[in-house]
Amino acid sequence: MRRGIAILGSTGSIGKQAIEVIQLHPDRFFVTALTAHKNAALLFEQVRALRPRLAALTGNDQPVDIPADLSFCEFRFGPHALEEVAQEAEGQDVLAAVVGVAGLKAVMAARTAGKRVLLANKETLVAGGEMVMNACPPGTLLPVDSEHSAIFQCLQGAGPNKYEQILLTASGGPFRTWDKERIRTATVEQALGHPTWNMGAKITIDSASMFNKALEIIEAKWLFNARPEQIQVVVHPQSIVHSAVKFADGAVIAQLGAPDMKVPILYAMSYPDRLPTGGRELDLFQVGTLTFERPDPEKFPAIRMAYDALRQGGAACCVLNAANEEACYAFLAGKIPFGRIPEIVAAALERHASLPARSLDDIDRADALARETAKNMIKQENS
Ligand code: NDP
Ligand code: MG
Repeated sequence: MRRGIAILGSTGSIGKQAIEVIQLHPDRFFVTALTAHKNAALLFEQVRALRPRLAALTGNDQPVDIPADLSFCEFRFGPHALEEVAQEAEGQDVLAAVVGVAGLKAVMAARTAGKRVLLANKETLVAGGEMVMNACPPGTLLPVDSEHSAIFQCLQGAGPNKYEQILLTASGGPFRTWDKERIRTATVEQALGHPTWNMGAKITIDSASMFNKALEIIEAKWLFNARPEQIQVVVHPQSIVHSAVKFADGAVIAQLGAPDMKVPILYAMSYPDRLPTGGRELDLFQVGTLTFERPDPEKFPAIRMAYDALRQGGAACCVLNAANEEACYAFLAGKIPFGRIPEIVAAALERHASLPARSLDDIDRADALARETAKNMIKQENS
């Protein structure tokens, strides 16, 4: 049976790669719906090529002119269109590949409609972890994030054995070898220069600050029902080991591969089957050496903040995520130095971490308060 897939965020880095793997396997998958935020030109091109029945431009409140040859597709507009598409698209699967907490309501809507969610959009799970997991019985939420896909793949061989520890690998980003003072004043261009992965702007900045790994610690907690102390971050600059799990007998099972998001994207779509991705293969002889280091908590306070937020529970992780989103975009806009990002997140956590996160309303409130604190700090910086 061909699986119908709705792609939320089809014009982004993950969305475009998802389309490429779908086009490689037309006998297995077809696209039921596509969404972009602002990039109408690329969305139109994708609709023309893939012929979904439903599409949305979520960043446009007003309808825009649709090219005459796309009349077979119904277009929706505005932020609510993301949830509408998640709920109403035909087919079994929704690939959540938008960036930021904007994906949360759409993921919940997809589950209300009984769709399987393929999750790249980690911010959704960070902000709404407990609520999202309650809506996702086993098999209805598959990870796309490469580390979490790796852990999921390693656990396929575990039988009834529960793992003891998750070894969550991290490239360390472009500032791994820099000292703390130099990191503080890093430029946007330097922060966007990721050594091993080519990704959207927000996750690239998050990788440089290691807030990406902070978000991934929280994501791993929810996906694999882990206690915080069971998750160990391992810096591995080559990005070949995508993560590993350790069992009671000391055995460690890891998943290795070339750094290529098409592998985890396609695995989520085709699970439990494995299909060719058209990407380059791992050549261990060419890689030669794999190295592993402990993360430096002084240079990258984000990691510690994630553990603290997890232990605190409630809306702490939601607050961490919201403040980080604001700080990340303020840095990209040249409004704050790089070193302010963790300080802004810490200030938001200090003020709002004890809020509850039982419902979407709770999460909306914590998210809004964290953003307000972050925005005030950013404004002061520029006054
Ligand atoms: P991109 O910035 O490349 O793409 C984001 C997509 O979401 C685009 O289609 C964009 O539309 C759309 N979008 C942006 N803002 C909104 C919004 N407010 N509401 C609805 N749609 C929006 O991001 P990535 O593809 O890099 O990342 C997507 C998600 O996947 C993130 O959560 C990221 O953390 C995660 N991820 C990404 C990886 C990667 O390799 N890129 C790896 C692992 C996880 P438009 O183009 O019109 O702006
Ligand atoms: Mg990742």
